[in-house]
Amino acid sequence: MRGDALEKLPLSDHFRAGEFRCQGGSCSCHGAISVDQRLVDLLEELRAELGSPIVITSAFRCDDHNETVGGHPKSFHRTGQAADLTSFRIRSDLENWAIIFAKIVEGRLGQERGNVIWYPKRNFIHVDVGRRISELLREKS
Ligand SMILES: [Zn+2]
Ligand SMILES: [Zn+2]
Repeated sequence: MRGDALEKLPLSDHFRAGEFRCQGGSCSCHGAISVDQRLVDLLEELRAELGSPIVITSAFRCDDHNETVGGHPKSFHRTGQAADLTSFRIRSDLENWAIIFAKIVEGRLGQERGNVIWYPKRNFIHVDVGRRISELLREKS
């Protein structure tokens, strides 16, 4: 999917398609969007728990952009199954929200799927609905 027509397409009560597009400035995808509905549903639940808006800083990444930002070659961002999240509220208590989000992810997706990684230096939390890799990961320092 691509194009501005999709920018404002609602995917849920609080998230629209444009928030999930590839943000590579010069990559060949021209702002393509790919998003797993399970991720959108999960984000709604996280937003409800947070009680305030969530800012998605990176969701879908085409292969070009994933390489540019140094993403893992098998990153779930490539498949539209991951989002990096922040907000004033999240930044103010990053570790605590990572723990809460991890519990919600497990509650929704079970033992087989979903990862939460928190990045204290860059102040965001990654969540994905891909195959479970670990319980809760902290950015390596
Ligand atoms: Zn791209
Ligand atoms: Zn991420």
